[in-house]
Amino acid sequence: MARILVIDDSKLILHVAKTILGKQGHQVLLAEDGKTGLQDAATEHPDLILLDLILPEMDGYQVCQRIKKEAVTSDIPIIMLTSRSEPADKVRGLKMGASDYVTKPFDEGELMARVNIHLQIRELHESLKERNRQLKEMANYNGLTGLYNHRYFQEMISKDFQRAVRYHESLSCVMLDIDHFKKFNDTYGHQTGDMVLKILGGLIKKLVRDSDLSARYGGEEFALLMYHTASKKAFLISERLRKAVEQHKFQADNLSLTVTISMGVASFPHPEIADAKTLIECADKALYQAKEEGRNRVIVF
Ligand code: GH3
Ligand code: MG
Ligand code: MG
Repeated sequence: MARILVIDDSKLILHVAKTILGKQGHQVLLAEDGKTGLQDAATEHPDLILLDLILPEMDGYQVCQRIKKEAVTSDIPIIMLTSRSEPADKVRGLKMGASDYVTKPFDEGELMARVNIHLQIRELHESLKERNRQLKEMANYNGLTGLYNHRYFQEMISKDFQRAVRYHESLSCVMLDIDHFKKFNDTYGHQTGDMVLKILGGLIKKLVRDSDLSARYGGEEFALLMYHTASKKAFLISERLRKAVEQHKFQADNLSLTVTISMGVASFPHPEIADAKTLIECADKALYQAKEEGRNRVIVF
């Protein structure tokens, strides 16, 4: 079932269209002039519009143009209603963005066939748009953990660093790496390792503030971006996360496993940090130091 708007100044045509379309189970909206039709198109957002070309005051071409120009209505297919004697008008309407035309008086079969074709095309178009939207969104995420991916993190930290500089805001970057994860994989298997990565992603999401950004940076490495956050606060949040991970029991088959993480924190403003790349490098250096000093700890650069 679809919602179809019919714009025609003839009450008879409106009645016939409503009867034919209604029989097919469609919901039919009627407008007797161009101005009302335009308003209905914008507010009711029908799936399809049948539009008479010859209307009093604002004619069908103008209505068609306006519908195609407005972002909210431009996707709605328009079928022009013309009389048989107007071939040039049909071309003109098609050039203005109408999808098709039907000649009056209607042949019921023809009207239904054309309406159905354009409803189908619209449905395909809508599902393609939705799919594209999903793909675009997925392109920013890491599938296993549900966190943002490396590429998106890089994109954001570049933008956010510039903003932090401009508005004199603090910005912290945290690099996080699982300790001895190679050994963990060797002992419990890669699949169990993947399960840990997935659950760790969830722990990070839960413990890091919603306003902050968390990403899977690499294999068993994660990166966090904390906005309006100086190093002291970033350290506290990191320390809370470190403890939560240390205490978490990862369940695999009949085993209850644990892992630890090391973290490096770097924060802007800092005399040695003048760009996003250096912010990441400094967090990485702090992470390296955390590993050197025995792992399962947070080090601030
Ligand atoms: P360190 O404490 O120094 O970080 O030791 P490590 O063993 O964690 O570090 P190393 O860099 O030597 O090894 C990283 C390991 O992480 C190797 C690899 O098996 C594991 N790893 C990386 N990506 C994945 C993944 O997607 N799934 C699983 N299961 N393991 C991964
Ligand atoms: Mg590691
Ligand atoms: Mg690593």
